[in-house]
Amino acid sequence: MELTGWVKNYDWGKQGIQSAVAQLAMANDPDFVLNETETYAEMWMGTHFCGVSIVKETGETLDRVLKKDLPYLFKVLSIRKALSIQVHPNKCEAERLHKERPDVYKDDNHKPELSIAITPFLALVGFQPVEDIIDNIDEFQPLTELIGQEAVDELHEKRNSETLKNCYEIMMRADDASISKCIKAIAKNNKSELKRNELLDIFNKVNQDFPDDVGVLCLFFLNLVRLQPGQAIYLGANEIHAYLDGECVECMACSDNVIRAGLTPKYKDVEQLISSVIFDGAAADAKLFMPYRIDDTVQVFVPPVDDFAVMHVGIKHSVCSYKLQIQAYGSILLTLAGSRILRLKTDKGVKEITLTRGSIVYIPVEAAPEIEFLQAEDCDENFTAYIATYNYFRRA
Ligand SMILES: [Zn+2]
Repeated sequence: MELTGWVKNYDWGKQGIQSAVAQLAMANDPDFVLNETETYAEMWMGTHFCGVSIVKETGETLDRVLKKDLPYLFKVLSIRKALSIQVHPNKCEAERLHKERPDVYKDDNHKPELSIAITPFLALVGFQPVEDIIDNIDEFQPLTELIGQEAVDELHEKRNSETLKNCYEIMMRADDASISKCIKAIAKNNKSELKRNELLDIFNKVNQDFPDDVGVLCLFFLNLVRLQPGQAIYLGANEIHAYLDGECVECMACSDNVIRAGLTPKYKDVEQLISSVIFDGAAADAKLFMPYRIDDTVQVFVPPVDDFAVMHVGIKHSVCSYKLQIQAYGSILLTLAGSRILRLKTDKGVKEITLTRGSIVYIPVEAAPEIEFLQAEDCDENFTAYIATYNYFRRA
């Protein structure tokens, strides 16, 4: 089944044709009308009720055709300005939060997520090592003024996640006027320190997009991670993060539960974030999530949860045919580049579908144990696709 994704026009998305989401939506659907003044932030592929995919041939929603939900949600993100400082609850917390605040926490599922860059990508991920945070607080004096000498002294003395938590909490709970004063003082007096730490551009950009927001100060606590296309990060439950710039494919458990605390016009739940977040510091390098290679063509990202895994398929244009072994679970394939004929078994016999940039295909359980990618005519471009599926690799 060929699908059309659900496009979300959040304010933080890239504008018009600059957005990969808009480009892919246009390539997928000739009827898609591009508006150059509109932002195109996300494309959803899956069965989540906030943005369910449509089956092209019949116009039906994917969940109706499958008569069930997929365990994962697959997305493309195109980011122009930061999207919230956030964590995602674990399953237990999600059930409680959904029960207590169904208006904010719309479903009862956890939301571990994996993001794979498709253009150079910038994100804040997890806390820096405590030593680095201490250096930052020492270097940027207005932070000590905001947090208070007593808490900073205690952090110096004990250097553990407990004292880090205390400092971070004080900062996140500070009143708007104190936060604004701190950011303005750093912007005015600490230019050379920002420059030395390679933070000047990003500090200015985030402060411009979200003036006087406490999220700007999170730059001094969280790891700045730069991904090249193909590199990935994995965010387990309660790992703090914020995506700042770039484009990625993202796969997660089928949920939209986000606990936000900064860099957003949406509802902030600072108390919940502070009580949920993990305060263990680690170096930025440790945040890269490595795939394992099946062969020259396919790599698999296997997160430590059952809900999903993602395959990266890269076929050289000179290769006549490539056969991919799969298991009997419904998968979603997104084509990013090149062209191939996809040959697969369905309940109505063997089918061939032409894949080009923007093609989204639901691969049914009947297709197992093998799908085939055949050379398409007139295509000398290498083929790139991502496939989201249930995480059967974990047990293999
Ligand atoms: Zn997230």
